[in-house]
Amino acid sequence: MSGERVPRRRRRPLRALAAALTVGLGLLCCTGGTAAFFLTELGGDSAESMTPMSLECTGDFRVDVTGDMPRMADYGESQLRNAAKIIGVGQEMKVPARGWVVAVATAMQESALRNLANRTVAESQDLPNEGVGADHDSVGLFQQRASWGSVKQRMTPEYAARKFYEKLLTVPGWEQLPLSVAAQKVQVSAFPDAYAKHETVASQIVDALAGGAARTTMVANRQTCDAASGKRVAASGWTAPIAGAVGSGFRTAQRPGHDGVDIGARKGTPIHAAASGRVLVARCDPDNSGRESCDVDGYPGKGGCGWFVDILHPDERSGGIVTRYCHMVTRPRVHPGQTVAAGEVIGEVGSSGNSSGPHLHFEVHEDGDRSARSAIDPVPFMRSRGAPLKAE
Ligand SMILES: [Zn+2]
Repeated sequence: MSGERVPRRRRRPLRALAAALTVGLGLLCCTGGTAAFFLTELGGDSAESMTPMSLECTGDFRVDVTGDMPRMADYGESQLRNAAKIIGVGQEMKVPARGWVVAVATAMQESALRNLANRTVAESQDLPNEGVGADHDSVGLFQQRASWGSVKQRMTPEYAARKFYEKLLTVPGWEQLPLSVAAQKVQVSAFPDAYAKHETVASQIVDALAGGAARTTMVANRQTCDAASGKRVAASGWTAPIAGAVGSGFRTAQRPGHDGVDIGARKGTPIHAAASGRVLVARCDPDNSGRESCDVDGYPGKGGCGWFVDILHPDERSGGIVTRYCHMVTRPRVHPGQTVAAGEVIGEVGSSGNSSGPHLHFEVHEDGDRSARSAIDPVPFMRSRGAPLKAE
């Protein structure tokens, strides 16, 4: 994410942000002080890694289609302007911001945000275009086929976006569906899994062009910043797994091997998947003696993550994000290979494994990797997704 350029006026200098994060973490670390967690089977300490950047959630979500456009990731000026047009139509139609993310991610997959003509559709090549594709008779940002409208209509970004949203809004429960499922129901693509990998950058584009709108959640029909928790999912597709403040932070001076954060909660509190994805692991982590005794409360020094779940969330840029949820009270409700939706309950808070009392130990890893090497600080990561770890 370091290579991206975003609009200067909305970007905090890296150093200032890093300093702010350091101060924030300094405060968090000192309120904790529970015992160390060894995660016996799951790796030890490792070097610091990059924390993800995020943009402010300004409350001013109105997109400007005519102004200067930033470059983001591999997308240039004209591609970002197409994204702005897609977002603008969504705003006109009063589609919630989640729909803008789904639409932008879909156009990223279908056309790389280019208004494409088609080699086999002669008429399309006489119209203004940003490249030529060859898929059936598909044209435009969303690669819509002839049944969606005339060639000229489908190569008009606003028309194409409107048709996309019209169909999306007919999909029951589309806001709760994983992005790949929602997009597939509109597009009926031969490669349904291809959409989800664009979710992160699509969210960043929506954030950059519409005041941090991917960090919003609809609360009482209003776009609300940083309010995603439990079943309430942000436009980015993320949600805090439980409501609650971080008691013990990520790799603090006292606990340099602590690769996640601890969030205190009552035993039995439902734990929600932080985003849609595939369950990699759901089982009892052996303790320091190699015993798999997770149905009883653990204690500091016992070792192990207790009953725990790892979920893989596809992400083109980072190779996949893995989230981990430890110390559940009973066997997780999900099983390896299962696909889960954001906000789905995967288990309940407990104190199994190396734990001094009921809490959720929550980790975030990059590179599609489960080892300690790839762990990043969940606090700035979840904040950047509009799903901060905080008390309600
Ligand atoms: Zn912990």
